Amino acid sequence: MQRLTQPSEIDPFLTDASNFRGHAEGVAFPENEKEIVEFLQECHAHKTSVTVSGCGTGLTGGRVPAGGWVLAMHRLNKFEIRPRGTGAFASAFAGAGTALKDLQAAAFQAGLLYPSDPTSLLSFLGGNVATNASGSHAFKYGVTRDHVRRLRMVLANGDLLDLWRGQFLASAGRRLELPVVKPSGAQEILKLRLPDYSMPPIKHSAGYFVKPGMDAVDLFIGSEGTLGVVTAMELNLIPLPQVILSFVVFFSSEEEAWNFAADAKKQSHANRLSRNDARMQARSFEYMDGASLDLVRAQYPSIPADSRAAIYLEQECQTETQDMLLDQWSCLMEKHGASLEDFWFGDTPEEELKFRAFRHEIPLKVKAFLKTHNQTKVGTDYAVPDAHFHEMLWYEKKRVKELGLYSVSFGHMADCHLHLNILPRSPEEHAKAWTLYEELVDKALAYGGTVAAEHGVGKLKTAFLEKMFGAKAIHEMAELKKQLDPAGILGRGTLFDENFLNE
Ligand SMILES: Cc1cc2nc3c(=O)[nH]c(=O)nc-3n(C[C@H](O)[C@H](O)[C@H](O)COP(=O)(O)OP(=O)(O)OC[C@H]3O[C@@H](n4cnc5c(N)ncnc54)[C@H](O)[C@@H]3O)c2cc1C
Repeated sequence: MQRLTQPSEIDPFLTDASNFRGHAEGVAFPENEKEIVEFLQECHAHKTSVTVSGCGTGLTGGRVPAGGWVLAMHRLNKFEIRPRGTGAFASAFAGAGTALKDLQAAAFQAGLLYPSDPTSLLSFLGGNVATNASGSHAFKYGVTRDHVRRLRMVLANGDLLDLWRGQFLASAGRRLELPVVKPSGAQEILKLRLPDYSMPPIKHSAGYFVKPGMDAVDLFIGSEGTLGVVTAMELNLIPLPQVILSFVVFFSSEEEAWNFAADAKKQSHANRLSRNDARMQARSFEYMDGASLDLVRAQYPSIPADSRAAIYLEQECQTETQDMLLDQWSCLMEKHGASLEDFWFGDTPEEELKFRAFRHEIPLKVKAFLKTHNQTKVGTDYAVPDAHFHEMLWYEKKRVKELGLYSVSFGHMADCHLHLNILPRSPEEHAKAWTLYEELVDKALAYGGTVAAEHGVGKLKTAFLEKMFGAKAIHEMAELKKQLDPAGILGRGTLFDENFLNE
């Protein structure tokens, strides 16, 4: 296994897309699972801390090391498409270092779709599992968790776990028994006690997943490299839809766009429940507010001049239902004040890619803005229940205006999960923006929301996790971690402060 220790070689692994920086002694590049087992045995024996690294697209500092070694998963990048999988459905068996874009391209070639679609196509599947990533398709297809059929993991002491969904379930008393294979080949049963806090019933990815009767696979999804190292996984693939209709719909006010999305969401739910495939069933709704559109107007002159919000939506269909669905969507757009002269429409994969690139252009412009002003982003990842979503949006707008800050808001409208990006132009505005972020987190929690719906907690949002669950629950999370990683070597400082492990 290659090990790098020169400062210039280690440097790229000391940060992630959040720009938060850490320090490390070296970076190890295992070629296979056996090398990971041996490496962790060695680190466990010497109490050397280990931070697992995927591609480093994380936005919360989870892969940023707090000393010790970085375990870089880049070389575990082999995967195979299994057309009918081991059950009735197709699947992919993939190493944790497989890039999401490589799996998506191979699935497409095989006439299949990997339904989870985080925008960060370079991210690794192991990173997606560790953060329970999700994307615009979450409204229809759910999050990464919903597509993981099997997980192979190495625990901090080198023990191996091979878990199939449905095989190991927690008892009603929150006990979970897991069969581990020791490095010697001997088998043992690991008996875990699970915490008893509860999670909000919305899109949520903050802290350990626990529920009575839960599946063992779910405990490790979203655990951000703190409970074990994911080495490989089997993921569900589904048949590629025949046609995808994609639209970018423009509105002259943000409220019109919110109301359109709420109506479309309600109808999509109802049609999905009644399995009516000839009626509207969006698979995604991506929102862009007026300020987001302003960022990209120069590059996209066909954005209508008077538009103050847009929604990008996708609908899967058969060729025979395509015209009917186009009519239904047009009626709904008109009902909510969108101009039928101006919307962008496509029914080919090329057009879909073009519209997705348009949506993706906004975070790129945000990045460029921050670079120009030499500032870092203050971007929210909270989500709230449906009933409070519009109140939350009004509150955000009001407070940003009152404080004289500049922001753009975009993201996953159907999941009540927008990313409000406050864009500071000076260090003073940066400080103000963080104070506002904390206030908004309090508001989201008061509405029954979550502090992190898809980016995880990492090292940057540990205080938010404690705010959300309280110190007692964080102690329970730490107790759970100690059962799987008694020396506390994995992902130091991620999810909660190390002091919780010492108590
Ligand atoms: C432009 C951009 C767009 C983004 N869009 C989305 C989006 O649409 N949806 C979304 O959910 N996120 C998004 N993200 C965030 C990020 O891409 C995801 O969190 C992604 O899942 C991280 O994957 P990674 O391989 O880069 O992991 P890293 O950043 O390297 O690591 C993330 C965490 O996972 C742990 N980890 C990584 N690999 C393993 C492993 N094999 N075993 C155990 N732990 C591991 C790390 O220790 C760390 O805690 C975006 C980020 C950027 C920069």
